[in-house]
Amino acid sequence: MEERNSREISLQRAHELKSRIEDFLTARDSIPRGLSEEETSKQDEKKKKILSLLNATEEDWNDWKWQLSNRISDVDLLAQIIKLDENEIKAVKRVHKKFRWAISPYYLSLIDDNNKYDPIKLMSVPTKVEIEKAVGSTDPMAEEFTNPAGSITRRYPDRLIINVTNECAMYCRHCQRRRNIGTLDQHTPREELQESIDYIRNTPEVRDVLITGGDAFTLSDATLDWLLGELHSIPHVDYIRLGTRTLVTMPQRITDDLLNILKKYSPIYINTHFNHPKEITKEAKEACDKLSNIGVPLGNQAVLLNGINNDKFVMRLMNQELLKCRVRPYYIFHAKKVLGTTHFKTSVNEGIEIMEYLRGYTSGMAIPTYIINAPKGKGKTPILPQYLISHGKDYVKIRTWEGEVIDYPSTPSKPMAEILK
Ligand SMILES: *Cc1c(COP(=O)(O)O)cnc(C)c1O
Ligand code: SF4
Repeated sequence: MEERNSREISLQRAHELKSRIEDFLTARDSIPRGLSEEETSKQDEKKKKILSLLNATEEDWNDWKWQLSNRISDVDLLAQIIKLDENEIKAVKRVHKKFRWAISPYYLSLIDDNNKYDPIKLMSVPTKVEIEKAVGSTDPMAEEFTNPAGSITRRYPDRLIINVTNECAMYCRHCQRRRNIGTLDQHTPREELQESIDYIRNTPEVRDVLITGGDAFTLSDATLDWLLGELHSIPHVDYIRLGTRTLVTMPQRITDDLLNILKKYSPIYINTHFNHPKEITKEAKEACDKLSNIGVPLGNQAVLLNGINNDKFVMRLMNQELLKCRVRPYYIFHAKKVLGTTHFKTSVNEGIEIMEYLRGYTSGMAIPTYIINAPKGKGKTPILPQYLISHGKDYVKIRTWEGEVIDYPSTPSKPMAEILK
């Protein structure tokens, strides 16, 4: 009798739990996923079209150097590949005078012509608002005051960034680093990298080095091999992190040669930048798998973007799709006020709502930290919905993911020596 009762209660609770995500399960079917059969066949069709227009082969497609040197940055060619109306074409031409744009053939193949507001298109094809609403700062991070040597940005006690290039496989319309990106593809000169390495060698408290840009994986294998080797040889550098969006924009970059280089300098971590479930394709997953298989842990740093992922279900689905590729959601960045990108900005409340509907509703594994970059380079600041309602000497009042408020006893700990005496 007792047993049946508890089973009945559990079944009732299971039913209630399912009802908590019923709305998500319905919405999920209408969110395009890069790994779905429907999207895969659309990508394939577009790829064939691009290959024939560029007079190229499957082999070219799989060669990252071909992808990089055949980035599309000519609007007439672009208009042959994707559907653009007269106004859109005019806008691309006007924006081009102020900001550069370039899209890898691979990333272009993900655009859906039947959706004028396709997230891939919004992230890659310039729109008139970039110049019409030319508000925002080019340097909201005050980066010039955090450069102690070479191409380093140091804003924290035990870790720093080396900026190695301003080249990317695709120039994201929402790029939060437009200032660094500049107008020309340029790798940091060898002497400046050397100066950065020397600074790290002489700064023993630096235990974590991030290589980024631009996109670290637009560097040649030879340069990466040299740079990673130098950093790896510094005893107080515990591990190296690489920042790259190529997993999203040019997954062909993850070659066997590159893997063999990365293997030599373990531990290496890679953080990438997926913003929408459409970007998580078969090719992207294969690239992620190759890196995971050689022991490189992967993290994702999304940016919260209006019209792309400022939706609790899109963000939940994306983080779940990432975990299928062994990519751990790491950060969601609140979009800063960067010149030419302000149409992507959301309110902080939108970010808080997204976080509210992650915790409890899906795996803790799928929950990143939502971050505001405090102005003037004052650091990453985590933002959470309120779970701690109040606290006193011997209690805390907490709020569960389902909204229940609970008093929870909490008394100060005693020294172990006192407890065990
Ligand atoms: C973001 C950032 C880091 C890394 O921060 P984590 O929170 O450790 O990922 C390091 N240096 C600078 C300058 C940064 O902007
Ligand atoms: S890959 Fe990163 S650095 Fe390059 S344009 Fe996109 S967001 Fe900016």
